[in-house]
Amino acid sequence: MSFRFDVVTLFPELIEPYVAGSILGRARKAGLIEVGSTNPRDYAEDRHRTVDDAPFGGGAGMVMMPEPLFQAIEAVRAAHRPARVILLSPGGRLLTQDLVREYAALGSLCLVCGRYEGVDERIAEHVVDEQLSVGDYVLTGGELGALAVIDAVSRTLPGVLGNAVGAEEESFTGVSLLEHAQYTRPREWRGHEVPPVLLSGDHAAIARHRQEEREARTRSRRPDLWARYRGAGDDEAPSNGKTT
Ligand code: SAM
Repeated sequence: MSFRFDVVTLFPELIEPYVAGSILGRARKAGLIEVGSTNPRDYAEDRHRTVDDAPFGGGAGMVMMPEPLFQAIEAVRAAHRPARVILLSPGGRLLTQDLVREYAALGSLCLVCGRYEGVDERIAEHVVDEQLSVGDYVLTGGELGALAVIDAVSRTLPGVLGNAVGAEEESFTGVSLLEHAQYTRPREWRGHEVPPVLLSGDHAAIARHRQEEREARTRSRRPDLWARYRGAGDDEAPSNGKTT
């Protein structure tokens, strides 16, 4: 069965090139995902096809008007019945791999992209199901966020990645640790050697080395994930018993 993504965006031309290439492009050709775009400008009511206006109460920039957005979202709801309608917003719930897995189980999503200074709050309150942030920074629009969701969800779907084991071992998957370092040929590159254990053929030693590396990286780079990992119980206890 195909996973359906609908993107509500004033700039559909930003979506297509990304989903047409590489793994997503192949997934689409194989019928594993479908991606559609709907433009709120097509639902604007005046002859200038206006979709934004100045904020009530004053302030810089323009705000996306509710009606064209509402009409666009309703058109998607009527045509494709998305399991969840998500507004991209810096004030939303933060995107994590856990949330990606939750979305992947839904079968369809509608991703609503703001532009300018954002969207009329009544859309957030009364029309969408939830708000989602892709990080604590501000983008010019929601399209990159929508593409992040499409990409991250798609690669968890059966058949999209050739090597399912690879996805299982990645950062944030299963346990909350960053991934170990990866190396490929040549063994020595500009004076830098690959760690000898990876060439040893000793699979148990390699697994141990990688687990220790995942723990050391997570501890030093992402203390927040490390604290989660250490609090996760016996199954996910650190391999070397370190408590720092
Ligand atoms: N004035 C808004 C604020 O300060 O929260 C920022 C609006 S931003 C310039 C325009 C649109 O980009 C937003 O409506 C949202 O759809 C999208 N956007 C920007 N940053 C985002 C983020 N970190 N996560 C998700 N969407 C984001």
